Amino acid sequence: RKPVPSDIVISRSCAAKSIDSLAREVGLFSDEVELYGKTKAKVQLTIIKRLQSLPDGKYVVVTGITPTPLGEGKSTTTIGLAQAMGAHMKLNVFACVRQPSQGPTFGIKGGAAGGGYSQVIPMEEFNLHLTGDIHAITAANNLVAAAVDARIFHEATQSDKALYNRLVPLSGGERTFSPIQINRLKKLGIQKTEPSALTEEEINRFARLDIDPSSVTWQRVLDTNDRFLRKITIGQSPTEKGYTREAQFDITVASEIMAVLALTSSLEDMRQRLAKMVVATSRRGDPITTEDLGVSGALTVLMKDAIKPNLMQTLEGTPVFVHAGPFANIAHGNSSILADKIALKLVGPEGFVVTEAGFGADIGMEKFFNIKCRYSGLRPHVVVLVATIRALKMHGGGPTVNELLKGCNNMRKQIENAKHFGVPVVVAVNAFKTDTEAELDLVCTLAKSAGAFDAVRCSHWAEGGAGAVALGEAVQKASSAPSNFKFLYDLDLPIADKIRIIAQKIYGADDIELLPEAQHKVALYTKQGFANLPVCMAKTHLSLSHEAEKKGVPKGFILPIRDIRASVGAGFLFPLVGTMPTIPGLPTRPCFYDIDLDPETEQVNGLF
Ligand code: ADP
Repeated sequence: RKPVPSDIVISRSCAAKSIDSLAREVGLFSDEVELYGKTKAKVQLTIIKRLQSLPDGKYVVVTGITPTPLGEGKSTTTIGLAQAMGAHMKLNVFACVRQPSQGPTFGIKGGAAGGGYSQVIPMEEFNLHLTGDIHAITAANNLVAAAVDARIFHEATQSDKALYNRLVPLSGGERTFSPIQINRLKKLGIQKTEPSALTEEEINRFARLDIDPSSVTWQRVLDTNDRFLRKITIGQSPTEKGYTREAQFDITVASEIMAVLALTSSLEDMRQRLAKMVVATSRRGDPITTEDLGVSGALTVLMKDAIKPNLMQTLEGTPVFVHAGPFANIAHGNSSILADKIALKLVGPEGFVVTEAGFGADIGMEKFFNIKCRYSGLRPHVVVLVATIRALKMHGGGPTVNELLKGCNNMRKQIENAKHFGVPVVVAVNAFKTDTEAELDLVCTLAKSAGAFDAVRCSHWAEGGAGAVALGEAVQKASSAPSNFKFLYDLDLPIADKIRIIAQKIYGADDIELLPEAQHKVALYTKQGFANLPVCMAKTHLSLSHEAEKKGVPKGFILPIRDIRASVGAGFLFPLVGTMPTIPGLPTRPCFYDIDLDPETEQVNGLF
């Protein structure tokens, strides 16, 4: 067999369909499609209404065992499975994947378009700007950040009356409130719409948000692995009159706005979520929202195109939605609900939508079920659990068959984790050229004895869709097996109980320990009325426990919860298990060393 060329060489060698003909093929009308050049298009949300009475297709989520830092091939398998079902089994199929951050593309990991002969193409378009959704999030996020600090500054340097006069300016001799200001008055319990009717006390309450600068949780973002922005001091120019404070940058995909984009169900819903985001606490202890800052309408305007899913294609011409890419640790790591919903209608009742959940099943899949499915109302038919021999050997501690056997405990536990939700599991053993027949057979046998509906080896990385037909057939069979979907916890349980259930049932912890800051937040969020949100655990993906170096199935540990944060607009609380970097750094030799443009052909070289 010939060696498999690099991802970009494969991607470039394939003659892509024009995206408008693919759009027609999948049943989109031309006025529902906005073309972004020849290979990408956005789909308008009007389609949801047109197709609302049609039945959904089958819903498949791809997850994995606890991975090595290299990744075990979930994206590659998502695309390979879609190629198998679409191009070889002739079923209607859509793959739904996340848009990758440019941070890792130029940093250590490289792109995320899949790999080998299972890719989204053109991979350079996919991995870089796409249609600008991440840039829109950067712009929206930083508008909020600017609004927070400018407001603190203006309130600190002006009297109540002066503030009020500027917030509600005279125009033609009269003052009028904007609709957003009327919302704020309602929230304050002031049932007045005429500025002249406000009392002195009401003017003061309206004009002053009284943000406690030390309580600001909203950070600035950019989509670059710039480690020197992890901690900064802002406001150092003399024009800010000494109002400096310590702040930080996060990577754009960690912005709450990215999580909002992934979880929203309509423009109206996005407007509401963008208004509910809590950015700080007032000195009186009340949450300060983006609506209080008056910025939520502008955020919706900045996000109005980003909300439309992006249509692309696989190497074998099957359709892909690329939409949203929330961080998989401090956010929920799943692509958008809107893309999945539209795709499920487009494929029809006999078709399949294959969507991917980030990291291992203990992280991405648990969040897929408990957060994404809770908000979408969608019920998955099959879980595909990707395993590799190399990761199982790592879990077992060495390269021998005995160690592989031992490492399969991690796969067994992750199969059990999927079965907690009542959905059939198909294990996809993603074959590498170094794997032996005996090893591949052993893992398939063990997966079945651990309760998987089926387990098949696949070679879609080396062979494209043809290498995943057996997987496709197993998934099709499993999709008609009885499934009895259930959530892991009820939303109205106390915050600590929800965390404990995840820790014990999914991670295998003996118990949890809430450290003082986390205890304080439990009390605060319960008082502020946020206790009934689902929980989005921020834990390492490299172990079932909180310690990345503990492989296999760690036992006898207490999961420490250091702190808890709230993404109220997105709609979850996120407990921090240990410290989580929210902006990666660049290594000594980043991927960008290899990336360049050929000026003759305008081809991008060196991406992988
Ligand atoms: P994940 O989505 O689980 O992080 P990816 O699908 O992105 O994993 O795969 C991680 C890397 O491994 C990619 O560079 C991909 O091309 C490569 N890869 C995946 N499967 C194989 C395979 N069977 N053989 C060789 N390389 C593979």
